[in-house]
Amino acid sequence: MHIVVDYDRCDSYGTCVDNAPGVFEIRDDDLMYVLVERPPAEQLAQVETAVRSCPKLALSLREE
Ligand code: SF4
Repeated sequence: MHIVVDYDRCDSYGTCVDNAPGVFEIRDDDLMYVLVERPPAEQLAQVETAVRSCPKLALSLREE
């Protein structure tokens, strides 16, 4: 699975960082960065919560 971000939708507010802090990060430039594009099994539950909780529906998971 890998994380796909629609940056046209993302508002960089950071709900995803709250849900999966080891996977997403807001930097000093106020943009959201994905730290782990292909999260391992132990981070997948956090990432799924982040995907579901994104208020802008900017996150998705794709199988590959
Ligand atoms: S929760 Fe969604 S809109 Fe907010 S920073 Fe993360 S990806 Fe962007």
